[in-house]
Amino acid sequence: MKKFPLHIRIFIGMFLGIALGILSIFFNLGPFIADWVKPFGTIFINLLKLIAIPLILVSLISGISNLKDISKLSRIGGKTMGLYLITTVIAITIGLVTVNTIKPGNFLSKEKQVELSAKYAQDANLKVSDAKKLKESGPLQVIVDIVPDNIFGAASSNRNMLQVIFFAILFGIALIMAPEQKGIPVKGFFDGVNEVILKIVDMVMQYAPIGVMALLAALIVDVAGNNPKQALELFSALGVYAITVLLSLALMVMVIYPLAMQLFTHIKYKAFTKGILPAQIMAFSTSSSAATLPVTMECAEKNIGIKEEISSFVLPLGATINMDGTSIHQAVSAVFIAQAFGHDLTVVDQLIIVLTATLSSIGAAAVPSAGLITLVIVLGAIGVSPEGLALIIAIDRPLDMCRTIVNVTGDSVVASIVATTEDGFRKEPSMN
Ligand code: ASP
Repeated sequence: MKKFPLHIRIFIGMFLGIALGILSIFFNLGPFIADWVKPFGTIFINLLKLIAIPLILVSLISGISNLKDISKLSRIGGKTMGLYLITTVIAITIGLVTVNTIKPGNFLSKEKQVELSAKYAQDANLKVSDAKKLKESGPLQVIVDIVPDNIFGAASSNRNMLQVIFFAILFGIALIMAPEQKGIPVKGFFDGVNEVILKIVDMVMQYAPIGVMALLAALIVDVAGNNPKQALELFSALGVYAITVLLSLALMVMVIYPLAMQLFTHIKYKAFTKGILPAQIMAFSTSSSAATLPVTMECAEKNIGIKEEISSFVLPLGATINMDGTSIHQAVSAVFIAQAFGHDLTVVDQLIIVLTATLSSIGAAAVPSAGLITLVIVLGAIGVSPEGLALIIAIDRPLDMCRTIVNVTGDSVVASIVATTEDGFRKEPSMN
């Protein structure tokens, strides 16, 4: 096995996991998978999460202190935010065009609708109450939440990634401004720790094929539950909706990103895709951009050749605020639920979706199913009952896996564009 490159081994792990999951359903091995296979996947996700905060903190401090001049940082920041916003709006527009053309809501029979609404009402209510908590705070609370009052408190939860990013930027800037003689040992320390953490990422990645296999096998068993026939029925009832989401995601990955890479970078899209494939598989297996972040950073730096000073800033920020896949999903799902409820949407409603889906994809945490919670805000803004979530909750997981791939791909595309405009490649990207 060792003689295959890592991305091929991860790929093999992915297929073995899917095959094992399917076989387990046929042979009723669910409990065995839960007891003896799933824990290996959980260990893998824990390892990824374990290094996420130290990695962001140290690589961002080390990256920023390498910039030497602060004006470069604000330039990179401006470009990054601008590109994140543009790609999100394009993503939502694609979702809206596709869903208004296919009209998946018209394919859902009334009986199925009533059945889904009744069956998943409780799950939907949980998401709605989570969203309420999110909405109750004042309009400036999002900004207040970025500034931590205790760095150790902030670093103690992966949910506070933006707070850690804030502290790291502050520390990095102060390090540039501090007297050079005093700053040198501090910088040396962070550079050294950074190297150590990157080695840990390497070690964790060696375990990735097994981790991915265990995660996917367990997931398939979980999704199929005790009644695989029922799961299949559900997929077919919501098939047109799922196809609409997947088609919009595919348009983003196969048309928009290649076009952007072609126009604004010198990296061939095929080489880019090969370079970030491990991150894409990881996104698919974990449904979390946050858990995938260490892998995305490693792929961007090692395989695409992006300098750390760019990737350590652009990618953690992207993992938390730039979610093209999530925003596509929000647009398609909001219109789908409106169509299913026979709620006609005006052009103004569609514009409101662009605005609210942008904000709610920014606000969604980089963890599984986070997009469903913030979708409540989009539904509320166009006057559609949030109970509509019950219609889509049952097949959210596979769609979440796919939209998370788009989320991490979008971050890497923006990192490549910013790197191109900032002389930000460590070497000529090896994969051109
Ligand atoms: N799972 C997604 C992510 O982590 C967020 C979402 O759309 O639910 O990127």
